[in-house]
Amino acid sequence: MTHPRLVVFSDLDGTLLDHHSYDHAPAQPALDALRARRIPLVLVTSKTRAELLVLRERLGHRGPFIVENGGAIVIPEGALDDRDEGEPVDGGRFLVRGTPYRRVREVLERLRAQLAVDLEGFGDVSDAEVAAWTGLPLEDAARARARETSEPFRFHGDDAALARLREGLAAEGLTLTRGGRFHSAQGEVDKGAAVRYLLQRYRHAHASGTVTSVALGDSDNDLPMLRAVDIPIAIPPASGRAPLALDHPRRVVAAQAGPAGFREGIEAVLAQWEAGALD
Ligand SMILES: [Mg+2]
Repeated sequence: MTHPRLVVFSDLDGTLLDHHSYDHAPAQPALDALRARRIPLVLVTSKTRAELLVLRERLGHRGPFIVENGGAIVIPEGALDDRDEGEPVDGGRFLVRGTPYRRVREVLERLRAQLAVDLEGFGDVSDAEVAAWTGLPLEDAARARARETSEPFRFHGDDAALARLREGLAAEGLTLTRGGRFHSAQGEVDKGAAVRYLLQRYRHAHASGTVTSVALGDSDNDLPMLRAVDIPIAIPPASGRAPLALDHPRRVVAAQAGPAGFREGIEAVLAQWEAGALD
């Protein structure tokens, strides 16, 4: 084999999953093509570990996954290498890279009062309210609230108030990111750092060959991940949001949003890979 080893990282909401319906069917041919070629797919999301455990069943996903926007990584047994890093969990290893949830909540509650900013976090409301905000079924909303290293929240205020909050969080070693639906507070982690960590593990596991990395995303919180790989694929955002400002010599920009764009991007990269254009 002279082709480099490919590793694909993908965001979920608005990328592999439709922003509104959470459907992945238009991406299925591309998922099948990756599996047929034994190309690992790493899911990278702001969702929780509890949500991913269910979603991966639906997608038939076997690879590692990065949750809570880079705050934690799960490496299923046999998916990568046998390194005994992280906490053993059912069927694999769990690596927490961010700040524990309880501390994120404490800081956010304190700043909300001190700075008089108006925000509602997942920890402030019930499963039913999160279901109403997201359109998720109740049991999925409960999984979305099972946070381990980050707190998504709705922010009701102007840019100046948001800047004050960002500054207050930074003074506590926390960062503020903006996803497709919510803002989020967490430790100094992002999707990019978690992707770089896993890429280093993949390179180590395939020391005899090169690894070419690909990532797909649609939101600002995907930019650190897209900048961490060889070939970033920008998925057009759901209507009403600004397109990703991604300046990269090898970027691919999909024409379609969501899972159709995922398929387009993966098929474009696989065509290059099979033609030997990535060697
Ligand atoms: Mg997204």
